[in-house]
Amino acid sequence: MQPCDTLLFAEIIVTQNESRSIIYNGGIAISESKILCIDAADVVRSQYTSKNTIELGSSLLMPGLINSHTHAAMTLLRGAADDLPLMDWLNNHIFPVEQNLTAEQVELGALLACAEMTRYGTTSFTDMYLIEDATYKAVDQSGLRVLGGEALFMFPSPAYKDFDAGIALVRELKAKWQSNPRIRQAVMPHAVYTTTPEILTTCRDVAEELNLPIHIHLAETPTETAACIESFGKRPVEYAHSLGLLGKRTTVAHAVDLTDDEISLLAETGTVVAHNPESNMKLASGMAPIEKMLAKGVTVTLGTDGAASNNALNMFTEMASCAFLHKVQHIDPTVASAQTVLDMATRNGACSMGQSDIGALTVGNQADIIALDLTQPNMLPMHNPVSQLVYATCGAEVHMTMVAGEILYHDGRYTKIDYPALIESAKDVAKWVQKKIQKRS
Ligand SMILES: [Zn+2]
Repeated sequence: MQPCDTLLFAEIIVTQNESRSIIYNGGIAISESKILCIDAADVVRSQYTSKNTIELGSSLLMPGLINSHTHAAMTLLRGAADDLPLMDWLNNHIFPVEQNLTAEQVELGALLACAEMTRYGTTSFTDMYLIEDATYKAVDQSGLRVLGGEALFMFPSPAYKDFDAGIALVRELKAKWQSNPRIRQAVMPHAVYTTTPEILTTCRDVAEELNLPIHIHLAETPTETAACIESFGKRPVEYAHSLGLLGKRTTVAHAVDLTDDEISLLAETGTVVAHNPESNMKLASGMAPIEKMLAKGVTVTLGTDGAASNNALNMFTEMASCAFLHKVQHIDPTVASAQTVLDMATRNGACSMGQSDIGALTVGNQADIIALDLTQPNMLPMHNPVSQLVYATCGAEVHMTMVAGEILYHDGRYTKIDYPALIESAKDVAKWVQKKIQKRS
């Protein structure tokens, strides 16, 4: 018998491995943050022993979900302004608050996001925001995993006075956080309409020099396309490609307004697409052509976008929305199958994070695992676990969340976050946000 740190046993394990195996009555042995063995419970019990054996009974274990595009601290703005035209929403409600944010407020908003993601089964996320250092502090505390980046603009942000200072900050943040294996850094120019060609080529060069991923909002709306053609003579994807920005290290968020040629360009360059169906629906940006992208071999991942344009950071409901949106887009119920969508939220998300050791439960991978309570009425009866996860689960069934072998949430309790204190802080900051918006409008 081999000792290990933790043993988990449950009724069903959805592995999301290469062959998408589902293990009934299974077990997982974990040591030093990694999966040591995953097999039938009998096999695991006969080989491993642990003082920390958790019998989860009528539960389903699966890889923690990966949110491929969000702005965590925007939880501060959740519900502060909805149902407005995009420019009114941005200029009169979002920007006046964001321009005045402090590091403490960003950390609070990000910690609230981490609490929400932990509660609803998301273990990793890609984050672009202002004062990203504050988000890293929240992630460090919460135990989650992030691929983060300071949002880089051609104008000043609360974190830097100009772009040169912004890119210096990217180097600084990399040096500061690189010893933390759960906090990874990317280069994140905000969008083509908030940057210049010089900024984008510098971002490309710095990403190559430091071997970092690139993440950018791209082709979100027809309005963006029109402005890009007017300013730079090209559509957004063609423009990004002409600057050498596309490639395997790059993830573009949204990719809604695309021509067939642009889809081919994304496929040929190996560029990853982070699809945000709920945000695209709420802001009425349009419907991303993910079926065409997948058919051409583009890796498509799933994200929620920020809480001001969703308004939840819930990857379970996002999966259902994704499947439903594309079925109605094509008037064809066979598109965006449950397995395709679950892959987007797990395995494909791992590609976007540049991490091959998450997104599937296999030997050697990180033990980023969630457990769902199968006795909840909406989980019964169980004909097909993958169908249940995409179409019936709301996320509240998650009763245990683990990252790198460490339990972050179990049976209603957070192990790393003082949640009662967080509730009070969230109530306090709401007053400040409302004052900022009222002053402007
Ligand atoms: Zn976004």
